[in-house]
Amino acid sequence: MNEKVIKEKLVEYFLRYVAIPSQSNDRNLQVPSSDGQLALGKALAADLKKLDLEDISINQYGVVQARLPKRGDKTKKLGWVAHLDTVDVGLSDEIHPQIIKAYDGKDINLRRDVVFSTKDNPEVLSYIGDDIIFTDGSSVLGADNKAAIANIMTALWFLKENPDIDHAEIYIAFVPDEEIGLRGSRKIDFDKFKVDYAYTIDCCELGELIYETFNAASGTLKIKGVPAHPMSAKGNLVNPIMIAHDFIAMLDRAKMPENTENREGYVWVTDINSDVLNLSLELNIRNHSREKFEASKDYLYKITEIIKERYKKAEIEIEIKDVYANIADSMDEGNKIAVERLREIFDRLGIEPKIIPMRGGTDGSFLSTVGIFTPNYFTGAHNFHSNKEFLPISSLYKSFLVTLELMKDRDYI
Ligand SMILES: [Zn+2]
Repeated sequence: MNEKVIKEKLVEYFLRYVAIPSQSNDRNLQVPSSDGQLALGKALAADLKKLDLEDISINQYGVVQARLPKRGDKTKKLGWVAHLDTVDVGLSDEIHPQIIKAYDGKDINLRRDVVFSTKDNPEVLSYIGDDIIFTDGSSVLGADNKAAIANIMTALWFLKENPDIDHAEIYIAFVPDEEIGLRGSRKIDFDKFKVDYAYTIDCCELGELIYETFNAASGTLKIKGVPAHPMSAKGNLVNPIMIAHDFIAMLDRAKMPENTENREGYVWVTDINSDVLNLSLELNIRNHSREKFEASKDYLYKITEIIKERYKKAEIEIEIKDVYANIADSMDEGNKIAVERLREIFDRLGIEPKIIPMRGGTDGSFLSTVGIFTPNYFTGAHNFHSNKEFLPISSLYKSFLVTLELMKDRDYI
């Protein structure tokens, strides 16, 4: 099957899925947080059926799962996870993509008075001559993560069209609400996702390969002070804001997001709400190293004890919850082949791997907490979460080739 036909299929699926608005909504605590994600899930379930997948289901949280039985004598069970939601960054929920054919290297007027300039986006110059999918300036493109969905669907379609190709047993999970705290991947029915390892295809340009993410926790500090009228405040008033001030003063300024990079972890004070009596303060705790992550949480408990000691009349408590874990922590001798395969395939396809410790998490970071090693590879898109997001079709195609080769589960060495 030739490249042109496959690229057309990739684009066809991609345009079909971005046409269904599916922004997640972080103000809605239900999963899925929006109806659009359910609509997209239903469309995908129907498409999976056409591709001969089995055990197709949509659970009450909008997670779409399916299985493709193996072909030939392959023994591995491989999973793919992609997210249904697009991010809400204040742009339109509707996506109107445009394909610029044989890009000429000039600035592009995306319409709606939005100019895509090569000065601000010099990386686009690597794709001169390529067909590139852009937005119309009013929304994100949604390649995050619909490029992944299109990629997976095209690979499944290719396997159906080519019955002589052997492949592993394949498990699919399309999950909602990744962008609002990896909520959807928690709702996967893991009894129906018994894989040796899995992949996400989330983020970034050609060659990116991620199997190290943050360990993440969120903390809430609650302080109840003692109110008093100014006439009798002396010696009586306990102001929760001043206590929070002491707490913050004990945090290490060098270990905050604005002063850290690469593998340096941080504690981020993200929110404070207070009146004269009650205060709550929100914290994000992040570190690639499990040891330093735990030490960082211990430090927060310790300084909470110090302020408790200092302000005995106040009620002070801190609650810290783990949110997700570093993908690399679930890597072991048995599953490290997931990354070795990726490296082999990149090598065979002439793709330079760009391995980065991600300062964030993917659905794989949650899967890691349930013991499923889930590395991530590129979709090929750039400028996520922005109306300047774009997807070179040649990169999308290469990402597809990686997926297909992984599904074939061949030994190359
Ligand atoms: Zn994403």
